This record gives sequence, structure tokens and C-alpha cells, in this order.
Amino acid sequence: MRALKLTAWKTEPELVEVPDPVPGPGEVVVRIGGSGACHSDLHLMHDFEPGALPWNPPFTLGHENAGWVHALGQGVRGLEEGQPVAVYGPWGCGTCEHCALGIETYCEKPAEAPVPGGGGGLGLDGGMADYLLVPSQRLVLPLPEGLDPVVAAPLTDAGLTPYHAIRRSWPKLTPTATAVVIGVGGLGHMAVQILKATTSARVIAVDTRPEALKLAESFGADLALISGKDTAAEIRKATPNGRGADAVFDFVGADATLAIAGAAARMLGDVTVVGIAGGSLPVTFNSPAYEVSVQSTYWGSRPELAEVLDLAARGLLVPEVTTFPLEEAVTAYRRLAAGELTGRAVIVP
Ligand code: NAD
Ligand code: ZN
Repeated sequence: MRALKLTAWKTEPELVEVPDPVPGPGEVVVRIGGSGACHSDLHLMHDFEPGALPWNPPFTLGHENAGWVHALGQGVRGLEEGQPVAVYGPWGCGTCEHCALGIETYCEKPAEAPVPGGGGGLGLDGGMADYLLVPSQRLVLPLPEGLDPVVAAPLTDAGLTPYHAIRRSWPKLTPTATAVVIGVGGLGHMAVQILKATTSARVIAVDTRPEALKLAESFGADLALISGKDTAAEIRKATPNGRGADAVFDFVGADATLAIAGAAARMLGDVTVVGIAGGSLPVTFNSPAYEVSVQSTYWGSRPELAEVLDLAARGLLVPEVTTFPLEEAVTAYRRLAAGELTGRAVIVP
């Protein structure tokens, strides 16, 4: 089969021919319907120094995957060949307390996981290929009726990650609250919709690109702001008495965006850092405002993925998708890096 391999750090991936995967006991092979191109893959290609992560190339890219069950290993029950499925991407040990709750992102026995702190496309072979080997059936979720694997693929990360981040702030996202989404790309355009579908907060979208803001408005953002030095003040001005935003979700994570997030957050509010651009936010006694909680989040849990798939199946979360064939995956990544895409690029082998 064909596979898009990252062969070394600081390189672009290459399309190569590899043997088809064969499922061992308990494993599942998924025929890929779609595999999303995440900005994290650009960080993998360009930003990480060797040794920065607990695993190394070579591996096939693609950690947002959905398709159809192709082959079942010995002992797998309850799945059928041809059945449409989504793949839960963070692969933990499966048995520690967090994994048992389905929060495999925070597996506490990483040495016993298939790969420590990763999964398919993150240290192990991922879904930018014809087939994906999934190490356990617990990582394979049947798709709800009517959900196309091409659309479901980006839900497994670009949907699940903002859902998990937003869910943590639900108690603060009351009808009088304001939520801010910084960076309306693959993750952020889902965040706007998730906020609209699951809370009654006002939503402010922030991006450097007008076309990203247009997309945010089409999904119901109440206000869209071009990112710049006055953005935090503009956010405050849009809130009652200039009090600031109850929850800010930063899907960029650069110094500039974290500065906006910190300065825009209301006392007792939340700042959640999702983007991994590597910026920092200085915290002093009264800056950000008193009792602002600053948190990072990594991906989401298996039960949350089921909730995200359900939201999408009911039409409440609609990924904006541009498809590319596997031969053009490198082009898709280059266009993502150049800021030429809106929503999510999905590779369809
Ligand atoms: P993307 O490239 O699709 O979207 C990023 C958006 O941010 C773009 O619309 C871009 O125009 C905008 N942007 C860039 N600089 C900005 C600025 N200064 N102000 C406002 N907007 C700005 O990327 P994506 O795939 O949505 O990923 C977003 C980030 O989240 C990446 O850093 C990615 O690695 C990270 N990520 C984190 C997790 C996690 O679990 N924490 C999971 C997936 C992705
Ligand atoms: Zn675990």
C-alpha cells in the first residue's frame, strides 16, 4: 500500500510503498476514508528538535482518521468488516486509571502504551495511507448513522480537542458570558461551532486572516476581530463594563496570542492554551486578572469523541473540509503552512 512517511526530523514526508498491515490478536485494520492534515504535523516536520519527543521517525503521518473496518484480528468482537468507524487517536496503555476512563491522552503508564504519549501518526504509523493498523478495538468507534468518514476524520482531533477544552469551561460559559476563540483554522472553526451548539455564551473570533473570520461568522460568531495589538482592548470593549472574556481558547499559542488571551480574560475566567506555537504567558500577582485559571489541554477523551461524533451526526457541528488525494498530501501541508486553507484539509487515499 501507499503511505506518507516522515523519515526524519526537519524534513517533509514522502509517499512510499509499504506492506499492507495484518491485524494481530485484538487488533483492527481500518481502510482509510479520510485522514486530516493537522498543524501539529507541520510542527513535527519543521519545529521539533531530535529528542524533544519520546519517539522518532520513521512513521506514517495522519493522526485524524476514519474509514471502514477492513480486517479484524483474532478475538475482536462487535465490529464487522465494512463498518464505518472513527479512530480514537491517543493510544495509551488501556488499563491505568486514566485509560480506563477513556482519557488515554493522560495515560499514567506510558511505557506500557504502544508508543509513549503518541499514537498512529505520532510515533507509530498513522492514517495517511491506504490502511491503518489500530492496536486495540477499544480505539475504534462506530460512526453514527449518516456520518461520512471524510467528515468524521477531522472530528477525531480538530473536533475533539476544542470540545475537550470547551467542556472544561462549561460552568463559566453562562448566557451572560463571553467566549473567545483565537485562531480560526482547523481546530478553531470547530470551536466556534461547539461553543454555539453547547453553550449560550457570546462568541468572539480572532484571526489574522479575513477569510478565517468570514468562516467564523458563517458559523455564528457574534464578533470577528483581526488579531493585533489592540485586540484584547477590543474584546474587553465588547463585554459589559469592559470586564473581559469568561473563557479564552488560544488555538495558536504564540507570545502574541497568549498576550491577547491573558489581557482579555475576566477575573475568575479561564485561559486555555491549545496551540503549540511555543509562546509563553507571564503570570504575576495581578496579571492576568485575579483568579484567572491558565491551563493547557491535550486532545480529548474517548467518551468525548463519541459526543463529538453525535454532535456532527445531528448537524450541530459541520467540519469545513477541503479534500486532497494522497499524492497531493505534501501540497496540502504546504498550503496549510502558507495559510491558504480554511477549515481542515483531509487526505482521501
Ligand atoms: P491551522 O493552521 O488550521 O489554524 C491556525 C489558525 O490560527 C489559522 O487560521 C491562522 O490564520 C491563525 N493564526 C495564526 N497566527 C495568529 C495570530 N497571531 N492571531 C490570531 N490568529 C492567528 O492549525 P490547527 O490545525 O487548527 O492547529 C492549531 C494549533 O493547535 C497548532 O499549534 C496545533 O499544533 C495545535 N494542536 C494542539 C492540540 C492539542 O491537543 N493541544 C491538538 C491539535 C492541534
Ligand atoms: Zn494508560
